[in-house]
Amino acid sequence: MVDEAGVVVIGSGAFGASTAYHLTALGQEGVVVVDAHEIASQTSPRAAGLTKQVRPDPDVSHMAILSVQKILRFTEETGQPLTFVQPGSVNIARGEKDEAVIRAEIAAGQALGLETSELSFDEMSLLAPLIRPRDIRLIAYTPTDLYLEEPGQLPLGYARAAEEQGAVLLPHTRVTGIGIEDGHVVNVTTSQGEIRTAIVVDAAGAWARLVAEQAGIPVPIVPVRHQFFITQRIPGVDATHAICRIYDACVYMRPHQGGLLMGGYERDPQFYDMSTASPDFQIGDLPLDMSVLERLAQSVRDQVLVDKSVGVREHRGGLPTMTADGRPIVGPVPGIEGFFVACGCCVGGLSISPAVGATLAELILTGQPSLPLDAYAMTRFGAAVESEDALRAACAQQYTDWYARVPTA
Ligand SMILES: Cc1cc2nc3c(=O)[nH]c(=O)nc-3n(C[C@H](O)[C@H](O)[C@H](O)COP(=O)(O)OP(=O)(O)OC[C@H]3O[C@@H](n4cnc5c(N)ncnc54)[C@H](O)[C@@H]3O)c2cc1C
Repeated sequence: MVDEAGVVVIGSGAFGASTAYHLTALGQEGVVVVDAHEIASQTSPRAAGLTKQVRPDPDVSHMAILSVQKILRFTEETGQPLTFVQPGSVNIARGEKDEAVIRAEIAAGQALGLETSELSFDEMSLLAPLIRPRDIRLIAYTPTDLYLEEPGQLPLGYARAAEEQGAVLLPHTRVTGIGIEDGHVVNVTTSQGEIRTAIVVDAAGAWARLVAEQAGIPVPIVPVRHQFFITQRIPGVDATHAICRIYDACVYMRPHQGGLLMGGYERDPQFYDMSTASPDFQIGDLPLDMSVLERLAQSVRDQVLVDKSVGVREHRGGLPTMTADGRPIVGPVPGIEGFFVACGCCVGGLSISPAVGATLAELILTGQPSLPLDAYAMTRFGAAVESEDALRAACAQQYTDWYARVPTA
């Protein structure tokens, strides 16, 4: 067990592992990654692995674009394996409202330098042969969007690369307290003992709020259940087929090992209060609900050509966290020197984690991140969220409107 650290990173998922790697890459000594469970084993490996570079918010788009660039040279940079396919993404509007969103997405993508363009039905049938052009009004194509075959490789790779650069990984070690004296972080208490440190990063995913509460810090995030299924092999499905999203249905798809991975955002999201979960709870224990996905699949049956007899091979789900404005929370905790957070992933955290970790590490070590983090500051919420009910209502709105928000660049 370690008793002193330069930085303690709590959580080895996408946000924590990337932050730890980039801290060590910048020369920080004594980085310790503490995880209550196995390294990179909770929500991150259960993600669909999609990137989406044109986000409603330009600050998040910039993080997503930098992250794709970092994914492309991940193995070169870290020496760790990462399997991805870069077929681009095809985003579809069926209704008038979404047509306006897609039009704005094309303009925003171009302004961001992404070569996003309108796609014809003929072009779509080549890129995404499982989609039938029925009742479709407009299609946007972003050619550099990619997907990770097995998303867990990303945090695992960052964690292993951090370890090679001197970080200490402590799996199965739970943080139970964070000591603050005179407004400064002084230590972290874990199930294996105390670690003296002046800097802590709370990247505990669904538990990030609970961890911060140990130091009396209220982080306004709410864990939400999110799920997808993967079908058995479907003749004609190829790994190089594009990622597809049907906006009004809030449904996304991509190829996976000869089958189709399909997930989406339901209208009445299930939120979780981690303070009521058993201390032994792991994301693998989360009860999933196939009926939610069946309804989502039904809502796109006119567009997605899949024979009803195709069976489901796998059903995955996890607990990403929502914020009231749909942007993550990344940066310092106001009023406490040395306390940083990286949480509130808003179901898109894996694909921005390379840039989030790099930027947060720069902020911690130099005070000058290469991408501005103001839009992610915890202070932006101020006193706006007055109650748990108000927070949940705002988070539900963000979740259900996930593809309805109009992008700007
Ligand atoms: C079904 C599904 C599909 C998704 N699809 C995508 C997608 O296509 N693209 C995308 O970008 N994102 C996607 N996401 C979201 C993505 O998975 C999350 O944004 C990301 O995994 C969040 O990473 P994290 O590091 O915050 O959390 P986690 O991976 O959960 O890591 C948090 C870690 O903190 C540890 N921890 C918790 N409490 C403590 C404690 N007290 N002490 C020590 N350690 C602790 C946990 O054990 C855990 O390992 C999807 C999510 C789901 C569930």
